[in-house]
Amino acid sequence: MYFQPEIETMPREELFQLQLERIGETLRNAYENVPFYRQQFDEAGVRPEDFRSFEDLQRFPFLVKQDMRDAYPYGLFARPNKDVARIHASSGTTGQATVVGHTAADLRNWGDCFARGIAMVGGSADSTLQVSYGYGLFTGGLGAHAGGEAMGCTVIPTSSGNTKRQVQMMRDLGTDILACTPSYALFIADTAIEMGYDPAKDFKISAGIFGAEPCSQNMRDEISEKLGIQYCDVYGLSEVMGPGVAMECAERNGLHIAEDHFYCEILDPDTLAPVPDGEWGELVITTLTRECCPLVRYRTRDVTRIISEPCACGRTHRKIDKLRGRTDDMLILRGVNVFPSQIEQVITSFEEVVPHYQIVLSTRGPLDHIEVQVETVPEFPFDEVRKLEDLRKRLAAELKGNLQIAVDVKIVEPKTIARSEGKAKRVVDNREAGNR
Ligand SMILES: [Zn+2]
Repeated sequence: MYFQPEIETMPREELFQLQLERIGETLRNAYENVPFYRQQFDEAGVRPEDFRSFEDLQRFPFLVKQDMRDAYPYGLFARPNKDVARIHASSGTTGQATVVGHTAADLRNWGDCFARGIAMVGGSADSTLQVSYGYGLFTGGLGAHAGGEAMGCTVIPTSSGNTKRQVQMMRDLGTDILACTPSYALFIADTAIEMGYDPAKDFKISAGIFGAEPCSQNMRDEISEKLGIQYCDVYGLSEVMGPGVAMECAERNGLHIAEDHFYCEILDPDTLAPVPDGEWGELVITTLTRECCPLVRYRTRDVTRIISEPCACGRTHRKIDKLRGRTDDMLILRGVNVFPSQIEQVITSFEEVVPHYQIVLSTRGPLDHIEVQVETVPEFPFDEVRKLEDLRKRLAAELKGNLQIAVDVKIVEPKTIARSEGKAKRVVDNREAGNR
């Protein structure tokens, strides 16, 4: 049920105490061993010994992705080469790659964090874990692999690709738990079905641990149904560790943060002031045990909220909600924060439309005007005006209920909205400059 019961169910007061001690250690490690931090702290006029309470942490400067890029390759390492066991790096698709080093202890902690998720889906040393994340500099494959080994599972390192073989191994070797990206899980499920199997009935698989890319609730449901599994959402990012920073228990209402290894703050993305538990904002992480690359107040740009209510599973570590998006994607419409992912969630719940859409913003008088363009499925009777109007009204009402602001819905014929080979352009912002 638990992988490390004494830690996962530690009384909250003890956990707070542990976090306080470990934040202090992280600040000292950063200040003493990384010239970048020393300079940052000195400029902000703070020293590690100024930290005594969680509030004191707010006096310490943030770390942003650009700092990590600027420090390429070894500028943020707090350990010499002889103590570095492994290097991972982000893909660098949007700029200079970021390089992160791990000591042997860092790697052990990572395996433990991921193994807690394996326990959350009912896994044990008896389980067979198939890792269909890519192996390499990307943290997915080796992160999940370390979790499986820490738990004592039989690990099958298939990596990604060669999907028919994945399916065959999953069936023949009796895979219990699959770990990969959600989109790949769906592809594996569809491939199995095409090959004539019903994985929900014919395969032994009972759980999946999926992360590393955004996934709507509808897609999660589809994956769970097709594979017949418990879906565990895993959060992690290569800068902070990799998969396992937070993992979803069987209660399915949030991801338990590994709070003995990470301290999380949620900040208002505009003012950078902390928000109360339960309110949405940007997730900021301070690592608590990391030796090689300690991170102090790393701004993840991911938007979530803290769920601090006790969890029925018995774990005392607080949870984060499923990510709503990234602050880079957030739109402020008539003073309300809106994420394209919220609109997508509504649209994908309607069978009559396809998941291609565009959000067109303009200025009408002093206000933002929001138009959501959606396409019908090819079978929809597009020339039946009453049916079209009914669909439009239902979509508009659902969107208003979800976003708390009124939007116009424009329904267009199939294949009208431009498709893109890479990242889809979901938002067209024609607002006057002052309103953006
Ligand atoms: Zn729980």
